[in-house]
Amino acid sequence: MNVLVVNAGSSSLKYQLLNTTTGEVFAKGNCERIGIDGSFIGHSENGKKDTLEVALPDHKTAIKHVFDILKTVDQPIEGIGHRVVQGGWYFPESKVVTDETLGWVREVAPLAPLHNYAEADVIEICREMFPELGNVIVPDTAFHYNMPEHAWRYAIPRDVVDTYHVRKYGAHGTSHRYIWRTVDEFTNHETHKLVSCHLGSGASLCAIEDGQCMDTTMGLTPLDGLVMGTRCGAVDPATVFYLNRVANMSIDEIDTMMNKQSGLLAVSAKSSDSRDIEAGMNEGDEKCAMALEMFYYRTSQLFAEMAASMEGVDTMAFTAGIGENSVTMRQGVADRLAWMGVKIDPELNAIRSDDPRVISTPDSKIRVLVVPTNEELMIALDVEALLG
Ligand code: ADP
Repeated sequence: MNVLVVNAGSSSLKYQLLNTTTGEVFAKGNCERIGIDGSFIGHSENGKKDTLEVALPDHKTAIKHVFDILKTVDQPIEGIGHRVVQGGWYFPESKVVTDETLGWVREVAPLAPLHNYAEADVIEICREMFPELGNVIVPDTAFHYNMPEHAWRYAIPRDVVDTYHVRKYGAHGTSHRYIWRTVDEFTNHETHKLVSCHLGSGASLCAIEDGQCMDTTMGLTPLDGLVMGTRCGAVDPATVFYLNRVANMSIDEIDTMMNKQSGLLAVSAKSSDSRDIEAGMNEGDEKCAMALEMFYYRTSQLFAEMAASMEGVDTMAFTAGIGENSVTMRQGVADRLAWMGVKIDPELNAIRSDDPRVISTPDSKIRVLVVPTNEELMIALDVEALLG
């Protein structure tokens, strides 16, 4: 089945047209700077990349341009899959778009206002333009929805939890689900307790026992957990009250600071990109060295937390931009887990490949893998399962 996968962010819209059986990607691209001056679409097809400078005042205009561009691709679109950041309390799994399910995406939008409203607009325009095509909602939170109550519940009053739906939702669920599926196949169903480590500019770990999410490090929003590119990860929640009362910072200012000006960027005082920080450390920059040290420390610490949620771990899988590419980061995290019996082979760790691979030594107590993620394929497979 040929599926168009649409991933609308706060000011961007990524798309990919692919086939679920072969995995072939016919065309893909990204509409950038939506609602901002200087917007453009980067499109690639048959190995050729083009940039189109076009006004993109909103997401609806962007998706209309995408359909225009895709007319040149000699492949029919047979279904559309939409990545939705927050499925809230309505989506334990992906669902076909109807008036009701689209209403749910908007109802839970206060939990992810920068994303869900734009995503709902895009879904609506796809339905209007192509009423004959089915659309599927694939929320990033769905995989985590059925984690045990002791993992998702926050120890705050029950009426607050119930009225405002405050709980752990997590994120990167589509990626963690894809990693489970790939690891399960790659290890001949020998994996039972997996910690999936999605380390990109956003980063989260997920404890997965026989395909079921047992816990994850992100919380009500993606701000919780690990130190990330520009997000601080877990800090004492009282930091917010303190800064509000003592530093006179508004809630919006603290929100921006914790989401956009913190993490590796803040500690390194240089960049949110791990490549720049690794280069800085190699040149003797102490702040970069501390940023990396904190990244290793928190990742290894929360790895142990995820293992505890399953009372064991047999496999660890690195994925996403940092997890797939950074030899240094993988080594740094593994070194701090040597006490748990994690041992990676430096030569295997240094190999670059687009295929899943083992990087641990034969005597490592925990099998360590690098597994490139493919959220678009996972979304397309959901579309096929629900519509195909
Ligand atoms: P997201 O999808 O959350 O934007 P990605 O998974 O694409 O993030 O990861 C982006 C991050 O991956 C970059 O910020 C960079 O830190 C890291 N990264 C990408 N390529 C490399 C590389 N070759 N070596 C080290 N880090 C890399």
